[in-house]
Amino acid sequence: MSEKLYPNIINGEHVPALSGKTLALQNPATGEALGMIPLSGADDIDKAVAAARSALNGKWGRQAASARTKILFKAAELMNARAKEIAELESRNMGKPVMHVMGEVKQAIEDFEYFAGAASKVEGRVPPVHPVFFGYTLKEPVGVVGAITPWNYPIMLESWKLAPALAAGCTVVLKPSEIAPCTANILVEILHEAGCPEGTINLVHGTGESAGAALVKHPGVNKISFTGGTDTGRAIMKECANDMKRVMLELGGKSPAIVCEDANLNDAVLSSVFTIFYSAGQSCEARSRIYVHDSLYDSFVEKFVAATKQLVIGDPLDKNTHIGALAHPSRLPIMQKFIEAAKQGGGKILCGGEQLKGGIYDQGCFFAPTVIVDLPEDNLCVQEEIFGPIVVISKFISDDDALAKANGVKYGLCATLYTENMPRATKFIRGLHSGIVTLNTPATALPGLPFGGVKQSGVGREMAMDTLESYLETKTVLSGVTGKPINPFGLTLS
Ligand code: NAD
Repeated sequence: MSEKLYPNIINGEHVPALSGKTLALQNPATGEALGMIPLSGADDIDKAVAAARSALNGKWGRQAASARTKILFKAAELMNARAKEIAELESRNMGKPVMHVMGEVKQAIEDFEYFAGAASKVEGRVPPVHPVFFGYTLKEPVGVVGAITPWNYPIMLESWKLAPALAAGCTVVLKPSEIAPCTANILVEILHEAGCPEGTINLVHGTGESAGAALVKHPGVNKISFTGGTDTGRAIMKECANDMKRVMLELGGKSPAIVCEDANLNDAVLSSVFTIFYSAGQSCEARSRIYVHDSLYDSFVEKFVAATKQLVIGDPLDKNTHIGALAHPSRLPIMQKFIEAAKQGGGKILCGGEQLKGGIYDQGCFFAPTVIVDLPEDNLCVQEEIFGPIVVISKFISDDDALAKANGVKYGLCATLYTENMPRATKFIRGLHSGIVTLNTPATALPGLPFGGVKQSGVGREMAMDTLESYLETKTVLSGVTGKPINPFGLTLS
């Protein structure tokens, strides 16, 4: 077993959990031991929050924005220099193909660059309220931020939170997922090397039930920025209501792709194969329901299955691999549960539907990319987030039918539309209950464009100026201009 410890980093110091407990990590593609993380609890969180609060009141929160800009640009540069090392470690930690993680690391770098530039663009306003008053607004950091992240895009999603929070002048306690925590250590080391003073960014490893819950409850935390499952988000939102903590929630999805009768069929097929099977379907915005116009349906399904069968599933460190392992052995029974639900609902499984076996597959958690058709809209596989390489393809007969089906779930993160008819596209863009609509492209997330959902997909937006704003509070200042306070009661004193 590998003895390497990925320690907590509190006030700039590398430390174990106060309890001394650890959790062992495994490569989900090979079963190889990867090391361990501290199993932290409320006492570790206490120390990290105290360090963050002290840095907020001292070295970080009160320095010039231009100093934060320089540090965040430096962090981007240092990430670039270690991109390959980060990508390989993350690939071994969560089973995603290394080439794909490399793209995500590049995006994390761009996110730091975006918010490095934005840090010095924060401005208050001077509204012309009244001739005898001078009123203006100041923007101040929200305070100490608790950032809690999932396992599916570890370093990228951590960067989505750390870059804007630090740019705004907040200090942070980061609690990464216990399933894929390794690269968080590199990120926090890089931020220190770039010049973040001790206490500005603290890392506490552990489970959600222990370290995560303690962070959410802590009275010294002003905002929780959470990405993860909808049920966890709901529990966090309730807890934050107790002391009115600010809360940002990026949650689950069940995103649709809609292929209209005028779409380019081959392009729509190839793009849709990517939008579900990238990251083995473990993406919040995975387009896991595909609605195809009746006139194209049979050809679409046939071509989609043929393209799916071309996917290379295997060693995440091989640059030719399209799909690696599921991130954790606990994901396999979840996939089986959905396959059973599909069978019970009368669905037809056109390919996949089972764990892959034989050769390298026997060492890890590999699940075959799965295509299901003929399911009713109320089936679990249509309504619930699967978070794995399973797609349901269904048909629609009119634009209104497509809109009703696309909107017929509790989630609303992303929707992708394939059409070459702009008036039709406009109707869909307006009618889709979704935080993001993409048109004839699989891409969803670029720094500068707000990323986030409506309905039960969350509250708030990542990656854009809206995000920076959410890490700031507005303070209103009102002053008289005559130098003499007004006397509204008109009283006199001798
Ligand atoms: P999860 O909710 O199980 O865990 C997410 C994080 O929360 C982990 O760090 C976990 O330790 C912590 N946590 C768990 N219980 C907690 C509690 N009671 N209090 C505080 N923290 C707690 O989610 P996951 O399985 O890691 O990630 C998958 C989910 O994340 C999917 O639903 C996916 O859609 C969602 N996700 C959303 C986005 C988005 O931007 N909308 C992006 C990526 C992933």
